[in-house]
Amino acid sequence: MTNAVQSVPLLDVSRANEPLRDAFLEVLSEVIDSGRFLFGPDVVKLEEEVASVCQVEHAIGCASGSDALLLAMMALNIGPGDEVIVPSFTFFSSVSCITRVGATPVFVDILPETFNVDPAAIDAAITTRTKAILPVHLFGQCAQIDRICRIAARHDIPVVEDVAQSIGAAYHSRPAGSWGLAGCFSFYPTKNLGGMGDGGMLTSDDAAMADRLRLFAAHGMRPRYYHQVVGINSRLDSFQAAILRVKFAKLAEAVRHRQENAARYSRLLHKAVAAEQVTIPTLDQAAYHVWNQYSLRIRDGKRDALRSYLSEQGVATEIYYPIPVHRQECYRDESFANVTLPETDRACAEILNLPMFPELTAGEQEFVVEKIGEFYSQAARSAA
Ligand SMILES: *Cc1c(COP(=O)(O)O)cnc(C)c1O
Repeated sequence: MTNAVQSVPLLDVSRANEPLRDAFLEVLSEVIDSGRFLFGPDVVKLEEEVASVCQVEHAIGCASGSDALLLAMMALNIGPGDEVIVPSFTFFSSVSCITRVGATPVFVDILPETFNVDPAAIDAAITTRTKAILPVHLFGQCAQIDRICRIAARHDIPVVEDVAQSIGAAYHSRPAGSWGLAGCFSFYPTKNLGGMGDGGMLTSDDAAMADRLRLFAAHGMRPRYYHQVVGINSRLDSFQAAILRVKFAKLAEAVRHRQENAARYSRLLHKAVAAEQVTIPTLDQAAYHVWNQYSLRIRDGKRDALRSYLSEQGVATEIYYPIPVHRQECYRDESFANVTLPETDRACAEILNLPMFPELTAGEQEFVVEKIGEFYSQAARSAA
């Protein structure tokens, strides 16, 4: 049979949402009828559901993953003069939460196999000013969070996990977001549990931390109109929570589809291209990977040429991330110029993220890999 696929999108959220349209409309009309647009029952129930999959006592809704990270910094009383250890190969928010409270990010390099932060580099970066360690569970796979937590415990430093891309992931069977003092989640539409707008959540097993997170997310106000601390206004609204609960019920199944798709990509790529040219993702044996992204390394400086070829052929790809956070323009006046992170730089130059979502079809994946194979066979012919 010939492949009828003409183009493949990076992500098509409507394939997940369309079959759920009636369920969405039903829960949204319940929210309208209730009149409880903030702090409604769906927010409370979603908090309970996320706490339960993460096996923690407390979950606190907030307005975004970025706010979750910022609130964790605020609740830990982190500020000027304090250092927070963080990777630079991540989305901006993992770092902006640190500089936003006036503290200093101390950047550490990643492991080339998984793109996740290197625990040994964290250990070496600890000083008397270190106030927190902020590992990121990148692309759906946990960092070596057991080692990171052991290092942190030895120095009595809190760990804040950035779980924005990895809800439902685990390490040694223990859920992401349950290892550190706090876990920070995002419901941005492209995440594994994606809403129809912004949303976020914090998890914690520590009652005092959970209480401070709630306080800071609500203007530091307790009781009403009496402000104990200068907090922010960051809430998950009832409409988003209602939508997210419908999708939450399908999360485990969606993750299984992502895992099947990842395995299929790896099988197909293994046959189509040489491992020296295209490196397929490495699975950490301790990790339950939830595949928010399927990330290749494209060797020999061919990444951008391959990406243009795929784009011409109708295959959308993305580069997460083209430049490390410490080199971003907004930090040009900071003292990060002498930070050297060779693996981070190499990842930025080599990484290519393929279309990945639960409803991606086998035919679409075959099309993607066929086009990658074509790029290399044409290159081989023109070199001959
Ligand atoms: C998406 C993301 C965030 C931010 O989440 P938002 O909900 O978009 O604010 C933070 N960290 C990482 C690693 C992310 O991928």
